[in-house]
Amino acid sequence: MRLLNDLLSLFYPEICAACGTLLHRNENTVCLSCRHLLPDTGYELVTDNPVARMFWGRIRFEQVTGMYFFSKKGKVQHLIHELKYKNNRDAGIFLGQELGKRLIESPLYRSIDVIVPVPLHPKRQRKRGYNQSEVIAKGISEMTNWPVNINNLIRASTTATQTKKSRAARWENVKGIFVLKNPEAFAGKHILLIDDVITTGSTIEACAIALSKAGSIRVSVAAAACATS
Ligand SMILES: [Zn+2]
Repeated sequence: MRLLNDLLSLFYPEICAACGTLLHRNENTVCLSCRHLLPDTGYELVTDNPVARMFWGRIRFEQVTGMYFFSKKGKVQHLIHELKYKNNRDAGIFLGQELGKRLIESPLYRSIDVIVPVPLHPKRQRKRGYNQSEVIAKGISEMTNWPVNINNLIRASTTATQTKKSRAARWENVKGIFVLKNPEAFAGKHILLIDDVITTGSTIEACAIALSKAGSIRVSVAAAACATS
């Protein structure tokens, strides 16, 4: 097996999903140097943090965290780009596992019942082959044993790409597009909503409005990264 892997890596060398350098044999997905350098927010340990404050006056969440600071052209952007556009699911599993380790260690996330990834539009999911938030959720579940539910919160209609829109335009774009098919199934539960990057928060907010159809639901939010300024 070792020989086969060595031969394979001659032809398909594995590279770090965060910096693009060749990985050593004992490294996996992300090199050790990047693992040390990825910019941790530590927000999973603090209820009142900048990404949680983004939602004040908009919607009530139990806890909100983004694991890494997102910056343009940085390692975190590289990782997210690998996951979303380079078919690199391992990058998503890495992010999910790292996030899961932090959440299971935090006293603030002890009552989570179920993980719900932000749904992608089915058309875009077919094109990409997977939902990146679902891949992150899978990594979290591996570390926490919290179950993942992908059948209840669904995306109802198509939206144009979010990238170049203002916050108001983004909100117009996403409000009302998420539907909770069976509100009773989530009644009384503490849901952990998962996204890749929190930027304006409008997608998360729209998901939370759909989730609020379930009685006495509590919702927390965890993203691999956050772009708060
Ligand atoms: Zn690296």
